[in-house]
Amino acid sequence: MSIKKVTQHPSQNEGLIFERSQIGRVGYRLPKLDVDETPMDELIPAELRRTDDLDGVPEVSEVDVIRHFTRISTWNYSIDLGMYPLGSCTMKYNSRLNEKVARIAGFTNLHPLAPEEESQGALELIYELQNDLAEITGLPGVSLQPAAGAQGEMTGVMLIRAFLDRRDGEASKERRVMLIPDSAHGTNPASAALAGFTVKTIRSTAEGLTDMEHLKQLCDEGGVAGLMLTNPNTVGIFETNIKEICDTIHAAGGLVYMDGANMNALVGVARPGDMGVDVIHLNLHKTFSTPHGGGGPGCGPCCCSAELTEFLPVPRVAKDGESFRLDYDAPNSIGRVKAFYGNFGMMIRALSYIYTHGAEGLREATETAVLNARYVAEQLKDTFHKPYDSDCMHEAIFSHKNQSRTGVHTLDIAKRLIDYGFHPMTIYFPLVVEGAMLIEPTESVGRQDLDAFVEAMKDIDREAHENAQLVIDAPHSTRIGRLDEAAAARKPVLRWKPDMETLSTTA
Ligand SMILES: *Cc1c(COP(=O)(O)O)cnc(C)c1O
Repeated sequence: MSIKKVTQHPSQNEGLIFERSQIGRVGYRLPKLDVDETPMDELIPAELRRTDDLDGVPEVSEVDVIRHFTRISTWNYSIDLGMYPLGSCTMKYNSRLNEKVARIAGFTNLHPLAPEEESQGALELIYELQNDLAEITGLPGVSLQPAAGAQGEMTGVMLIRAFLDRRDGEASKERRVMLIPDSAHGTNPASAALAGFTVKTIRSTAEGLTDMEHLKQLCDEGGVAGLMLTNPNTVGIFETNIKEICDTIHAAGGLVYMDGANMNALVGVARPGDMGVDVIHLNLHKTFSTPHGGGGPGCGPCCCSAELTEFLPVPRVAKDGESFRLDYDAPNSIGRVKAFYGNFGMMIRALSYIYTHGAEGLREATETAVLNARYVAEQLKDTFHKPYDSDCMHEAIFSHKNQSRTGVHTLDIAKRLIDYGFHPMTIYFPLVVEGAMLIEPTESVGRQDLDAFVEAMKDIDREAHENAQLVIDAPHSTRIGRLDEAAAARKPVLRWKPDMETLSTTA
């Protein structure tokens, strides 16, 4: 469906800024020069001067620009507007204070190439954050360099590979199998493949847990370099056998990688290092404050056991007495994975988040996140099909089984939620649940919002049974209905081309 071609106030039907252009319109005028204009050729060499006219650049006034972007911003759904229960993404609201701290001029104006003696504060911040994340995960080696969760994963499996190569020498070539559960995030097998491993998939049990028999069988087949496990897993259930899982992998000569994207269910309560995990990545942009969604910068720290520390990326921040320095002296390091030290702004927000919560507060946030998800699970279990019986951790999973016979599927339920003022939950992930709806309320919603969400979901179920078409045609309240996502992906229109005739007639 395309944007409705009706004459409406532009707040309902905003075009591109290019389409608002009027030749000769400007945002401001400079005063006339009261000196001779220096001939241009004296200042700018000929080869650097453009020869064409700047056709097609929007010519708009200041108020045009302000209103255009303000109107578009009101079309967006954001965490500041309401609940964003996108499972596996931890879309929590974070205090503005963290943003304020990240904007302190001493941090934002610091050049990454500034000498160490002038960057002591920034280096200390990195050092402190590394220590705090080591404490939170129970894993002493930390690198803040990776720029996303997926890059943290790749860094982590590269550490495993470097460790095995050093331990086993030539024989390490025989150990190239990475075990990954069938419920895993798609980035896990991708990271394993990038680091040179082949993937074998472990089945899940009917309870949504790793199938121990299958795990042991795959270990017996040999060649196991390691396991990549998300805990709580992507159906929101804590792997209660985690100790035994780690022991089994270690006995087979492999290492355990934990995907820590779900740490919002564990921080301050349980530590992966204590469970036997060797290496983990965190998503600072999920669990530790930085807002995400929309492709901005991320930070995916990699935390590892003492025996893997020598392989971490360089440089690492070291402390000598009272001062801090960058340490490049790590001959076994896998090298750099990101320019400079990673995305520093996220580190400031994360440390601010940790300090403002304190140890007690971090634990409370985790407990509230789990409580909220269990509340939703409990309230909706008679209306929506719950594929697993176990208590969930920080996210609740349902399927469309009770609604699909009316013709209403997961996608329709998600689209209808938009009409009720909520961002949809994660849909069709993980793949092990047909028509999955993964709901993660996070700790930043109160009882009123949870109840409103539960009511909306129950209303949508009622509509599915009484007037399915209403749900199938949703959303009804947005400017654009359902997009042709396949066409958008295959034939994206990424560039506006000026229509010179239109431009000159509107002048
Ligand atoms: C988000 C997520 C990732 C990847 O993190 P990015 O920062 O998006 O690269 C990996 N695993 C799980 C389970 C996730 O939810």
